[in-house]
Amino acid sequence: MSGNGRIALVTGASRGIGRAIALGLAARGFDLALNDIEAQGAALKETADEARAMGRRVEELYADVSDKAQVQAMVADAVARLGTVHAVVNNAGILRASDVEHCPEDYWDSVMDVNAKGTFLVIQALLPVMKAQGYGRICNISSIGGKHGAPEQAHYSASKAAVMGFTRVLAQEVGPLGITANCICPGIILTDMGRVNLDDPAISNAWKAKTAMARIGAPEDVAGPVAFFCSDDSAFVTGQTLNVDGGIVLS
Ligand code: NAP
Repeated sequence: MSGNGRIALVTGASRGIGRAIALGLAARGFDLALNDIEAQGAALKETADEARAMGRRVEELYADVSDKAQVQAMVADAVARLGTVHAVVNNAGILRASDVEHCPEDYWDSVMDVNAKGTFLVIQALLPVMKAQGYGRICNISSIGGKHGAPEQAHYSASKAAVMGFTRVLAQEVGPLGITANCICPGIILTDMGRVNLDDPAISNAWKAKTAMARIGAPEDVAGPVAFFCSDDSAFVTGQTLNVDGGIVLS
């Protein structure tokens, strides 16, 4: 499964799952446009430098994915600096835990804005580029939380369910244009965000017990399946949602 010098844009790439996806794509021969918010500049540069050390062309692009003007500028910048974008991984996401009864309105808004609207805005900005070249690979990072979810994450679950629904319809719109669109649903992955579910050893052990593989995931566990959706090995696969969770949700 090779990138063959194709160019992939990864959002939220400074740390956690996004960083592992970026490095996984670099290892498979993709050149990269790596995004995060400006506050993550030092961490993004570290990820970018690691990918450059693998011999890849890498550009760092700062933008808040929930801001349309910033997203449009980011995509224009990626194309100007790298020539085009062949694949995109919408990975940027946030989780702000609260039960429904006490959930502040701005938790709902910010989680929907980054996770759901951010995905839409990035795709909307990129579609003209992908249409013009008659080729595109779209991989949206949803979550098993968008399928059954967990208490205190109803708004997060709603945002991730939105990403799945969006991707299923997008796949139908862009299929005839040579563009595929698929979703990955990570399970419980040890990142700063994942720690919300894992800080308490009792909760961590309970999650381990729920996986067929009896372990918590590492960010690197997500990178291979994402690379598959970004490559030509998945040329006839679209509108799909793949759980990468060590066997929590079985289908
Ligand atoms: P993470 O460690 O918190 O990393 C997310 C990255 O996205 C951070 O660098 C973050 O920057 C960045 N980001 C946040 N808002 C952004 C914005 N508006 N524009 C651009 N970048 C932004 O999270 P993670 O665990 O790696 O999660 C990555 C993705 O996987 C998310 O979509 C998440 O919902 C999904 N996921 C994670 C798990 C898990 O167990 N970890 C499970 C299922 C799904 P800041 O840190 O500065 O906000």
